[in-house]
Amino acid sequence: MQLKRLEAYGFKSFADKITIEFDHGITAIVGPNGSGKSNITDAVRWVLGEQNIRNLRGTRSEDIIFAGSAQRRPLNIAEVSLIFDNDGTLPVDFREVAVTRRLYRSGESEYFINRSRCRLKDIYQLFADTGIGHDGMSIIGQNRMEDILNSRPEDRRAFFEETAGITKFRDRKRETVKKLTDTEANLLRVQDIMQEIE
Ligand code: ATP
Repeated sequence: MQLKRLEAYGFKSFADKITIEFDHGITAIVGPNGSGKSNITDAVRWVLGEQNIRNLRGTRSEDIIFAGSAQRRPLNIAEVSLIFDNDGTLPVDFREVAVTRRLYRSGESEYFINRSRCRLKDIYQLFADTGIGHDGMSIIGQNRMEDILNSRPEDRRAFFEETAGITKFRDRKRETVKKLTDTEANLLRVQDIMQEIE
């Protein structure tokens, strides 16, 4: 599977729509300090579902919307799309898959897969065990290697589980156990009601 393209509008320093094409091989992004190189990796992380604004170097969610400059008024919307050439790695029947996240200054947030609105959970599920998720190893930021080496054993285990492709099954197990617990609680309630009626 290949990441073909990134499109961003209103995200951080990108007041105008930008399109970055990723060809085969290595793509290097170069530019002066403060020109927005890290904002591009932030955009990738964000569209993959990052929820922790500090991991995007902000303090409030609206920090990711273009805040204006001497020449430009602030924008009220940020939108980022990643377009993948899907060789079957993503569990959907589309050769090209576009994942989009949009945030309005009002705080409203939207996610899309191929322009159809979806939930954040669908984005997580789409990338589960592909190694591309927002908390996966596919984006290694500055100081990240040091963090990983110094992390607690349980955190380090989570990295390996994601890489080994078992996170999806752990998530499903957690959901199933919760459903079982809820069902057991409901059964107890039904039994109580039946006893009261008898
Ligand atoms: P360096 O080489 O120093 O790491 P960089 O090229 O990675 O720099 P970034 O950190 O990606 O640069 O970009 C920082 C720039 O983005 C700053 O000029 C900052 O003002 C701008 N910026 C960040 N958030 C916003 C926002 N919400 N609105 C407008 N500009 C923003």
